[in-house]
Amino acid sequence: MKAVFGLAIIVDGTLVFNARDPVVLEEKAVAAAELLRQGKLVAFPTETVYGLGASVRDERAVSRIFEVKGRPVDNPLIVHLSDISELPGLARNIPAEAWTLARRFWPGPLTLVLEKKPWVPGVVTGGLDSVAVRVPDHPVALALLRAAELPVAAPSANISGRPSPTTADHVLADLAGRISAVLDGGPCDIGVESTVLDVRGGCLRILRPGSITPQEIAGLLQRKCEIVELSADKNPPSPGLKYRHYAPRAPLYLFLGEPGKVTVKMQEELETWLSRGKKAGLLVTLESAKAFSGYRNVELIVPGSRDDPAAMAARLYAALREFDARRVDVILAEGCSPKGAGLALLNRLQKAAGENIVQVE
Ligand code: AMP
Ligand code: MG
Repeated sequence: MKAVFGLAIIVDGTLVFNARDPVVLEEKAVAAAELLRQGKLVAFPTETVYGLGASVRDERAVSRIFEVKGRPVDNPLIVHLSDISELPGLARNIPAEAWTLARRFWPGPLTLVLEKKPWVPGVVTGGLDSVAVRVPDHPVALALLRAAELPVAAPSANISGRPSPTTADHVLADLAGRISAVLDGGPCDIGVESTVLDVRGGCLRILRPGSITPQEIAGLLQRKCEIVELSADKNPPSPGLKYRHYAPRAPLYLFLGEPGKVTVKMQEELETWLSRGKKAGLLVTLESAKAFSGYRNVELIVPGSRDDPAAMAARLYAALREFDARRVDVILAEGCSPKGAGLALLNRLQKAAGENIVQVE
């Protein structure tokens, strides 16, 4: 244990391995992998968000994930593999199209839902007979998975319902003292969770939009890809769909519609909140930002240009956490077009807003 402590600092009982330097990555990954093999929980960076990992072979460890996150037990976890060759170990009846997708997009932010092998514990899959699998595209995640020589179940490393973590500090803010370790690999590039795609029995259904778009999937397979309506259905095909997600502490109002009209409506709403003595957080595009300068008691965050939804998505969760840190009473957020990478961003904004969606006519 002493050797392990020599490689890490400790924050409230959680080991923090600085894995940003590729020269020292290997030894830190080996130390963290040893913790996973002992049934401990280890958070690690991926290209999407930070994950909270446990060995798929250790049901007790997997159960602890649900406990520390406060995650409903019917919300299944994604299994992370170090290489495509491990896929047949977890899934059966793998369709040819699944292999085509995995070969094209792995390592990468595409999660495939497949029939599970009988040994995969129900605690991982929320009791379903399917399993969600991906190979992450991040040197730290891959070093950890290779060193562990285990499939690793990992949801996002946050308290359930809070914005997903895109830095090791976000992980510690939610989970320090409740998990064994975090590998700090710096901020995540993509910043929103993977695209979840059900490919069982000839279907092609996006259960959760991510940075791999329906157009890319349809283009590769030369057929249409269905996008599941993201409703609060009682029995949705992906259990995670029925829970409110990604929410900051202050209520978030999402404004959708033609950008010029949205700006005017947001200004009106903002003035109402300010007149009541409230502090407001504003999340707006570069193109609209000028309309909101000059207000007092406003925290303005501009995640990027309307033309670059991927860049805005990368900054979304950090922005929501920043609003919490600045103690705003309300957040007013400008929506985006659901085209391309905008679909995933809009989905996360809608989830953060819950019922508070303002459609501007
Ligand atoms: P998270 O781990 O927090 O990124 O959430 C994982 C997402 O993948 C959740 O929305 C789950 O509902 C979805 N998911 C995981 N496993 C399955 C599965 N077997 N079938 C359908 N959706 C799944
Ligand atoms: Mg999550």
